[in-house]
Amino acid sequence: MTKPLRTLVVEDSADDTELLVRELRHGGYEPTYARVETAATMSAELAARAWDIVFSDFTMPQFNAFDALALLRQTGLDIPFIIVSGTIGEDRAVTAMRAGAHDYILKGNLKRLVPAVERELREARIRQERRQASETIYRLAYTDPVTELPNRIRFREYVQQAIEDARGKHPLALLLMGLDRFKDVNDTLGHTRGDSLLQQVGMRLRGALFAPDTVARLGGDQFGILLPRLAATDDVKLVIKKIQDFLQAPFMIDSIPIAVEAGIGVAIMPGHATDADTLLQCADIAMYRAKQMATSYAVYAPEFNRHSPERLGLMAELRDAVEQRQLLLHFQPKVEIKTGRIVGTEALVRWQHLRRGLLMPDEFIVAAEQTGVIGPLTRWVLTDALGHCQGARLEGIQLRVSVNLSARSLHDPRLPEMIVKALETTGAEPRQLTLEITESAIVLDPKRAEETLAALSRMGIWLSIDDFGTGYTSLTSIKRLPVNEIKIDKSFVIGMLADKNDAMIVRSVIELGHNLGLRVVAEGVETNETFDALSALGCDEAQGYFITPPQTCESLKSWFPTSSWKVGSTS
Ligand code: C2E
Ligand code: MG
Ligand code: MG
Repeated sequence: MTKPLRTLVVEDSADDTELLVRELRHGGYEPTYARVETAATMSAELAARAWDIVFSDFTMPQFNAFDALALLRQTGLDIPFIIVSGTIGEDRAVTAMRAGAHDYILKGNLKRLVPAVERELREARIRQERRQASETIYRLAYTDPVTELPNRIRFREYVQQAIEDARGKHPLALLLMGLDRFKDVNDTLGHTRGDSLLQQVGMRLRGALFAPDTVARLGGDQFGILLPRLAATDDVKLVIKKIQDFLQAPFMIDSIPIAVEAGIGVAIMPGHATDADTLLQCADIAMYRAKQMATSYAVYAPEFNRHSPERLGLMAELRDAVEQRQLLLHFQPKVEIKTGRIVGTEALVRWQHLRRGLLMPDEFIVAAEQTGVIGPLTRWVLTDALGHCQGARLEGIQLRVSVNLSARSLHDPRLPEMIVKALETTGAEPRQLTLEITESAIVLDPKRAEETLAALSRMGIWLSIDDFGTGYTSLTSIKRLPVNEIKIDKSFVIGMLADKNDAMIVRSVIELGHNLGLRVVAEGVETNETFDALSALGCDEAQGYFITPPQTCESLKSWFPTSSWKVGSTS
């Protein structure tokens, strides 16, 4: 079988070319060839077609092998180049090889031709494979396999380069964007769909930006956006607005619509930092801040920075705070809408810090979870809440008490024992206690959550799903759980009169909740109008500033007689 060989011959003699081609045919090749004898024609042929090999005479009237070689080099093509010539002398042969010729063959000794061709084609193939392998390695090292966007390493290089280019000329901005609750998507819908969401987010980000702006995926739910050439610092806001617009429509993942919210942290050079790593760090701190404040974006400010070591200090103090009784509970009543009767209260923890004053749970619960202080904290809250509840009962005020459980406490194997202890210590009964659990705590480990909840339910404790509507659990998946109550998240309730979408969510949660035999509570009821609207929709209970903000047990007791709400359940 003959092997096709696309052959370019740089040669002024047609006869010599014929001899060369004949030798190749002898050796089993079927050359399709062109003969050139000037730089111009050689360039034209190289540009016009793909070639497997180049043979070149050493000297020709208008051209020579060195120039031919240089020309081939210029194209960037890696094609074997073999000099076929009359005697050229050893010195020039060596020089030619040094210049990049792969071999030289004497016209009088064409026997060497075919073995040389075979060897050089083989070598070229190996070089080609190596090149591909190193390109693959490069790609793997610098791109994120899920989104095909540049990865963190590459992004950092871009940032470094952009800083060099921008220095002293114009500002640049670095944005870090984290998706809210991406973990829930992954946990509830699976990693494949999670990946698909990331891909789509990546595509939309790319759509929102123009060159030279760069998008990268830095890992997890984090994207990096580099705006290397800003005319004015304020232009960042326009870009953020555009990104938000592009992310607004829900993402369709296997026909499931998923709304994505993102927190963006912004760092600017100069101003915040002048090197890549510090700039990245500033953007990261700003993003954390945006998430903490639940705003869509935050521009870095030095005082955020001081926050971090401070936070660590705070955590060390929290451990002592639990022991030294610096924690206290505020209670917020829950009103049965139909009867206007206060049927329960929710215990909300606060930290009376010696220097900082009263700290709200959003400032320390997450960190308490991360550091493990949440265990003792939950134990304290349970005991204190049940103690107050039992105390009120002895004074003739019959109220259930709701305690919030964090994800970590829900999955703590010692939880049932902890609750039994708290009930024993205080003399309260299980039916006085409601535990509020968020959807995200359940999806963290649904099977385990189901078992724990079943055990708690058997003890006679009420279970409530808090902040309902913000996560990805469906009401039907709640059907499998021994849940008694759902609380519609305050973000929907607060907006329900102004926003049709919120109103629709509130209405359907009430309807579906009732279909499943659940009690439906609306939190964040701030106005009389909202209360009335909820009443019209048949919502069971309301909680919010309209009734009263959370307050201490003492002040609540003196508030009861002055308020227009009846106190205590009829049962
Ligand atoms: P949550 O359980 O959803 O509690 C409702 C939050 O909404 C409370 O904030 C409450 O003060 C606030 N709120 C009540 N009525 C209104 C209203 O009409 N409008 C508005 N805008 N807000 C209202 P708080 O006390 O800052 O608690 C925040 C979150 O911290 C709670 O959300 C709960 O998830 C968590 N938390 C509170 N206490 C504890 C605790 O003892 N343990 C655990 N693990 N988490 C707790
Ligand atoms: Mg709650
Ligand atoms: Mg809530």
